[in-house]
Amino acid sequence: MTHPDQLAGFRSLGQATARAIVVRAAAHDRLQRTLLVHGPAGAGKDGFVEDLIALLLCTAPDSTQRPCNVCRGCREARLRSHPDLVIGSPESWRDDRSGTGSIVATARRWLAESAGAPIAGERRVVLIEGVDRANEQIQNALLKALEEPTGRHVFVLVADEVSRVLPTIRSRAQALRMGAVPREELTSWLIDRHRIPADQADALARISEGHSGTAAEFVKNPALVTWRRKAEHELLDLLGRGPADRFASARDMLDEASRLHAQPVAEADATQDEEGRRIATAFQRAGALRIVDAWISLARDLLVTNAGRPDLAPSATLELDVAGAADRIDTTRLPVFVGLLERTREGLLQNAAPQLALQVAMLSWPRVESS
Ligand SMILES: [Zn+2]
Repeated sequence: MTHPDQLAGFRSLGQATARAIVVRAAAHDRLQRTLLVHGPAGAGKDGFVEDLIALLLCTAPDSTQRPCNVCRGCREARLRSHPDLVIGSPESWRDDRSGTGSIVATARRWLAESAGAPIAGERRVVLIEGVDRANEQIQNALLKALEEPTGRHVFVLVADEVSRVLPTIRSRAQALRMGAVPREELTSWLIDRHRIPADQADALARISEGHSGTAAEFVKNPALVTWRRKAEHELLDLLGRGPADRFASARDMLDEASRLHAQPVAEADATQDEEGRRIATAFQRAGALRIVDAWISLARDLLVTNAGRPDLAPSATLELDVAGAADRIDTTRLPVFVGLLERTREGLLQNAAPQLALQVAMLSWPRVESS
């Protein structure tokens, strides 16, 4: 007999455990009414959530064949246009608030409206993205909504950082964790699903470190690959330079990384109001996180290269002289430095000032030893 999760028409990659949980539950009509999809940015949550919504709204008579990807329910679910799909996030509530109304009041109203009866089918899917970015008052309002007894609503909550979701929400939800997939699997997926030539697919799979969401982003936006190569090149170059150069470079790199989302930043600059500044800061933080991720990857590459396994270093595909750099620095300090970058990452997620955080890290980036 064929395994149920091989039959289902999932289009996202991997996540075998999460997939098996929802496909089996759906086939036996035993789905929990609150599902919490979580995992780091780039782990492939968007793709999985799209499959999950199709599964929930599919009308194929045989429930083991869902999502069938041909019925109207599946098609409208994937286009996010299904009448029984409501989508909210802290960002959408902020945009929707009227005049001086608070975001909490807007979120409460949205939650009350989303509790309405389904229109087309048997159930309504309430998708909330970035639930970990919602403040405590909103999360408490959400908890109340989750406690209302109803068999006609399924809540799909999405979070990068599950630790920032209230424990009382987590305990009511079926957790579905997204993680990295093996490189070979990611390479084949890029070839089959995204029609990328094999050598290019392998290179993208390496620098994505098994994260299908990151790989999909690289495919969609080739400028990101160019940026990544340039950023890692600059960081290698800084190994031979002093604090003044490093500080200036941190500022320039941050400007460039923030501009990867050029359009919204330009608009935000134009508005010059509090909301505009908030958006500009959010993009600056996203830029800083990109730099830190590239930096962590580069530091690990230096370590594995130094340990005699340059073939394991993803940045080799970016045509960087990692081996040359590894020979010239004291690599024994790198594990501590990676720890520092991981704490920098945490700090950025908790609103640390992006430029300052990068400049502090610059001070601990090793220097080329004088011979
Ligand atoms: Zn279907």
